[in-house]
Amino acid sequence: MKTAKPAATAHSTHAHEPAHAHSQEAALTLADEYCRERGEKLTPIRRKVLELLLNSGRATKAYSLLDEMRQIHPGSAPPTVYRALDFLLSAGLVHRIESINAFTVCHDLTQCQHGILVVCQQCGSVTELHQPKLRQALVAQIQDAGYRLASDEIELKGLCAACQAAEASDASASIPVAAAK
Ligand SMILES: [Zn+2]
Ligand SMILES: [Zn+2]
Repeated sequence: MKTAKPAATAHSTHAHEPAHAHSQEAALTLADEYCRERGEKLTPIRRKVLELLLNSGRATKAYSLLDEMRQIHPGSAPPTVYRALDFLLSAGLVHRIESINAFTVCHDLTQCQHGILVVCQQCGSVTELHQPKLRQALVAQIQDAGYRLASDEIELKGLCAACQAAEASDASASIPVAAAK
């Protein structure tokens, strides 16, 4: 049973500034409540992995999560982190971004209503477009075509504004190099 809850805003859409500690704490509290409602537990390790993803503010590879985990708990074994990620995925708190093989926090930690993910292929910054109608229309078209989505994630490959700007300045700086090719 779902009650309307405020959306977690800890998911920063811009990659370079980590979410504020305050909204992060709020997001973790929401996630904790959400798990409890589902009769599950946000154990310290699951919570930590979620917190690392919130801190990162962008899609993060499992091995970097493991590295960060080891800085906090030196003995952390890969299965511990992978199991925590599996749990967070199945709870819908986290998305697996297949195009860059990384993980990111769901834009809304308390709803199973996922949006459409736009993923910067360069830096891993992810924005989740929360457009239920658009998503429904897309899913309906997919079903009409005789398919069913293989996962909850609808992923669009993109290049974020910061990376577009970086690319533009690179391009202007390296015109002679490009011409020499
Ligand atoms: Zn989501
Ligand atoms: Zn980017």
